[in-house]
Amino acid sequence: MKQIQCIGVLTSGGDAPGMNAAIRSVTRTAIFNRLKVKAIFKGYKGLITGEIIPFETQSVSNIIQQGGTIIKTARCPEFHTPEGRKKAYDNLLKEEIDGLIVIGGDGTFTGARIFSQEYNIPVIGIPGTIDNDLYGTDYTLGYDTALNTIIQAVDKIRDTATSHERLFIVEVMGRDAGFLALNGAIASGAEAAIIPEIITETDQLEELIHNGFRKTKNSSIVFVSESNLAGGGAMAVAERLKEKGYDPRVTILGHVQRGGSPSALDRILASRMGVAAVDALLDDARSVMIGIVDNEIVYVPFSKAIKDEKPVNKYLLDVLKLLSI
Ligand code: ADP
Repeated sequence: MKQIQCIGVLTSGGDAPGMNAAIRSVTRTAIFNRLKVKAIFKGYKGLITGEIIPFETQSVSNIIQQGGTIIKTARCPEFHTPEGRKKAYDNLLKEEIDGLIVIGGDGTFTGARIFSQEYNIPVIGIPGTIDNDLYGTDYTLGYDTALNTIIQAVDKIRDTATSHERLFIVEVMGRDAGFLALNGAIASGAEAAIIPEIITETDQLEELIHNGFRKTKNSSIVFVSESNLAGGGAMAVAERLKEKGYDPRVTILGHVQRGGSPSALDRILASRMGVAAVDALLDDARSVMIGIVDNEIVYVPFSKAIKDEKPVNKYLLDVLKLLSI
């Protein structure tokens, strides 16, 4: 097999803190290995339109601490079509890119998998999503930073909740995954987390109402995932509580969770995954996501990372319940 000589790197889908640190790591690891590296702007969109520029060591100076992605991200419907992917491949040929590193979530890897099969181009993924919802890795880039953003915000909400003796419902991101809600709740000392993974088993809200919330405390904070599966989100949960005579306040944290300077954990994770992604290409790996399990780097086939459900640790729910007595 032909040795890789030029790597293309892109960020795609939802942005996440730590993406820049990963771009920096990929760029410098490639250069260290005497490879060329080219940045593809705006995800698959830039691959199709040819927004591609060579990166040097200095191109990634002073970005490790920045949130978002300096090479931009976009959703690209055209990449769903064979014609769009053909244009993308033609641009790869034109730019002499013979290996791709894509930083994104499950949509990004779904596209990468199809593209790689169609055109026999090696593609390696780096998981970048605050939701932490990719199978086969303990953590994704941005998750730890988002958790820290959440607890800082909720610490402030707690001041008001306590002063006014109020019940607060806090909605956090995680459309199909309750990692942010569950761990955010534990780290904030909240009462409960209503998450999509559990909602089908028990009506957690009913349980809370039945127990009269925290009996020994006058204020309560309940986390809800934005998911439709998690009780319909914070507004729907609040409506149900009003019907039962409560007077809850709702805070939807929204996009603040996606921004900000990455935490130390995310910077280190991004740096390690960037090195591993270039190494993977040099080792002739293809169609795998770089993951981290028990603090060791692993390769996870795209097919598994995308399709398999990553389970929440239900023991954490017990911890939350136990500590909120
Ligand atoms: P994320 O990677 O954060 O999950 P998206 O789901 O928006 O974000 O996916 C990012 C991009 O990946 C899409 O805009 C599209 O260009 C590409 N993509 C997603 N699913 C597919 C698919 N089935 N076929 C081809 N490309 C896809």
